[in-house]
Amino acid sequence: MEDLGIIEDGAVAAAGSKIVAVGKTSDIRNECSASETIDATGKIVCPGFIDAHTHFAFAGSRERELELKIKGAGYLQILQSGGGILRTVRDTRAASKDELLRICRERANNLLIHGATTIEAKSGYGLSLQDEIKLLEVINQLNVDGPLALVSTFLGAHAIPPEFEGKVHEYVDLLCDDMIPVVAKRHLATFCDVFCEKGVFEIDDSRKILLTGKQFGLFPRIHADELYPLGGAELGAEVGATSADHLLYISPSGFEQMKRSGVIATLLPAAPLTLMLDRYADARSFISHGIPVALGSDLSPSCWLENEQLVMALACYKLRMTPAEAVMAATINAAHSVRKGNEIGSVEDGKMADLLVLNAPDYRFLGYRIGVNMIDTVVKRGKIVVRDGALT
Ligand SMILES: [Zn+2]
Repeated sequence: MEDLGIIEDGAVAAAGSKIVAVGKTSDIRNECSASETIDATGKIVCPGFIDAHTHFAFAGSRERELELKIKGAGYLQILQSGGGILRTVRDTRAASKDELLRICRERANNLLIHGATTIEAKSGYGLSLQDEIKLLEVINQLNVDGPLALVSTFLGAHAIPPEFEGKVHEYVDLLCDDMIPVVAKRHLATFCDVFCEKGVFEIDDSRKILLTGKQFGLFPRIHADELYPLGGAELGAEVGATSADHLLYISPSGFEQMKRSGVIATLLPAAPLTLMLDRYADARSFISHGIPVALGSDLSPSCWLENEQLVMALACYKLRMTPAEAVMAATINAAHSVRKGNEIGSVEDGKMADLLVLNAPDYRFLGYRIGVNMIDTVVKRGKIVVRDGALT
């Protein structure tokens, strides 16, 4: 994950939506003529960032919970008192589809301005057939509208809805018998995800949900071993998940099985930060096991982060990843985490022209310089969509 393949004094040429040539500026100038050029002298050019884990589609906000967290309330404690996810479920159910489109379009633009050109976007704040479909339709509509590309994930198994309190198995039946078949039949999602956690969806329920999704053509991914060592990483390996995410409490056998099954570790350093935990994922062990590491923001109402540059900085400072590893994790590995590694995530001939120009003289500024937006230009599918840091 250390070799970025940097070209000094490099240039990249695009035609239509695709990259057609990459090399030294003098060679590219000889080979290609262009109707429009972007001067990136003194700056770096890199692939558009891919945020591999977001709870993108939600209404409302939960700023008051910050004070509760500061006073020591934990995630499950806030959830059990009717706050947390369930508060957002109420707000999101109450929002119309048009209202959600408006809120989410603004959010998509924020992500784009900070350098994300593709994100994974989960449902999971509807928790009923009708409200989950509403969220997936919003995600799919924004993907069609562009310019940000969204890869849709069905996360009906995000929490137990209030009307199913104490009846988790009945809700799992609803997910498997009604919701997953409809979501799949209407092509509303690429992935099926589950919040596999003690007291929420435990291993057997998570297995049933992921295997049902798989049977209907949805690729599995899993929230694994975030707060408690439950064996989520092993389950991810068992069901052939594309990615297992969080992984703060992964066991030694979890590492072995993820490696053997080729599961990507999507790490989310802003999650423990905003949960005020002292524990972070052991990125160095994933890398030394040869498990590909991707990064995601975990954008949600409790972790409201729309800047992948900050995710990369947290990966450096809290996960002890090098800036080069963080760049890989936020580009090509994240592309594989959303099953688009053949289309995006690197600056290569034939790939989508999703490119960033950063106001930075060296890639190590990603990680090193924090709290400002270094994005100068964003090119999405060959079109300039952000110029001088602003939407065009
Ligand atoms: Zn998540």
